Amino acid sequence: MTDQFWKRKTLPEMDAAEWEALCDGCALCCMHKVEEEDSGEVFYTNLACRLLDLKTCRCTDYANRARRVADCLTLSADNTAAFEWLPASCAYRRLARGQDLPDWHPLITGDPSTVHEACVSLRGDMLSENDTDEYTVIYKLNNEEE
Ligand code: SF4
Ligand code: SF4
Repeated sequence: MTDQFWKRKTLPEMDAAEWEALCDGCALCCMHKVEEEDSGEVFYTNLACRLLDLKTCRCTDYANRARRVADCLTLSADNTAAFEWLPASCAYRRLARGQDLPDWHPLITGDPSTVHEACVSLRGDMLSENDTDEYTVIYKLNNEEE
């Protein structure tokens, strides 16, 4: 993409297409998370939302996601507190914190597969809650600055 709109616009200034284009397709926000009782730390599991297509890492009913899945995280520029539930790699979270997009981001590379090639997504390592309720804890929700 030649127009690096994320460098000249704030999140609230972006139009709907620009806002959606920020999503790198990692699907990490579609993975179930668990909270450790004692520490309060949150960890990703390898168990994906029932609406996630495990091959494409895309929601199979994006338009109706909030109605169909009660805890689906709907992101908006006026609710940046919700970004704390996103991985440190996520463009929404990064831009809200004044960081740039990572080099592998599809808006930089022009190739939607680079998020998988950079091993940011869990593609190939996910299970669907449609098939099992057993999961493995993968890693800590990354709330650290990069
Ligand atoms: S974590 Fe961020 S970039 Fe990844 S799928 Fe969710 S919204 Fe998109
Ligand atoms: S409803 Fe769709 S966007 Fe929401 S968590 Fe599930 S797969 Fe992800």
